[in-house]
Amino acid sequence: MEQAESTSQNLQSSKLQSKTNFSPDESLRVSVLSEALPYIQRFAGKRLVIKYGGAAMANSGLQEAVLRDIALLSSVGVQPIIVHGGGPEINYWLNQLDITTEFRDGLRVTDNKTMEVVEMVLVGRVNKQIVNGINKLGALSIGLCGIDGKLIEARQYNKGSHGLVGEITRVNIDILEPLLAKGYVPVISSVAFSNEGISLNVNADTIAGELAASLQAEKLILLTDTPGILKDKDDPSSLITQIELSDIQKLLKEGVIEGGMMPKTQCCIRALTQGVSAAHIINGKTPHALLLEVFTNVGIGTMVLGNS
Ligand code: ADP
Ligand code: MG
Repeated sequence: MEQAESTSQNLQSSKLQSKTNFSPDESLRVSVLSEALPYIQRFAGKRLVIKYGGAAMANSGLQEAVLRDIALLSSVGVQPIIVHGGGPEINYWLNQLDITTEFRDGLRVTDNKTMEVVEMVLVGRVNKQIVNGINKLGALSIGLCGIDGKLIEARQYNKGSHGLVGEITRVNIDILEPLLAKGYVPVISSVAFSNEGISLNVNADTIAGELAASLQAEKLILLTDTPGILKDKDDPSSLITQIELSDIQKLLKEGVIEGGMMPKTQCCIRALTQGVSAAHIINGKTPHALLLEVFTNVGIGTMVLGNS
């Protein structure tokens, strides 16, 4: 509160030194703000599900920029819902504890010990870092995982072939509705519950897609470490800027889309076929990628379109 007051006094006093000439920088800033008006009006009160993971969390400067964008979206009346993973941080702690990890079909094979680390790191540490960061920026955030309020129910994937990896069987958004109505930004870590009372490790993209569908979100935005879907995953200049669902199926079959990009494209398909209007896969390393995507007509990343 005190901090908010002193910030507002600072703003006031800098305004008192009013000038009649504006620098090109100041004029540009004002015109950018003004151009955002129709987008702010369009998205006010609408839900945006944002998957925040890996690369965009890589350094603290980048993290602060993403959280600022989320706080700004919330303060102009948009309802962001954040789903996060945290692969690099999980790898770091597994390594510290000498636990080896294996990826099969793009999924982390998860034994009991690995699951303990996944849960501690995602629900305990990464989640609270994000919530703290958003709160610090003046918005109001709350941390949950799929266990809380029975938000994400899952069963063991492929009858347990990957250990405690879960596949979603049901989404129950009841817990989110009152929080969104009160202006909270929910931050959800990708751990689900099973009917047997055990925690399961679910891909965060998949959770984001299911939540976007259940919440009838306006947009699903996946922040990742590539410019979007690439024709050649090793060539960042081969970005596909727009793609229809049927073409995604083709790229999946041809093996152009593989590894961590598979659950991303599959969750876009799921969200779009359930009524979400737009899905975007964008580069979390681009500063303010979220604001560019939501508040400007600059298309960044890959826009996935429902079949017309
Ligand atoms: P995140 O932490 O954002 O979920 P992932 O590593 O799970 O990141 O998924 C993104 C990765 O998917 C990229 O770094 C890239 O290696 C891989 N990938 C596979 N196929 C493609 C493709 N066609 N275009 C872009 N990335 C791809
Ligand atoms: Mg991933």
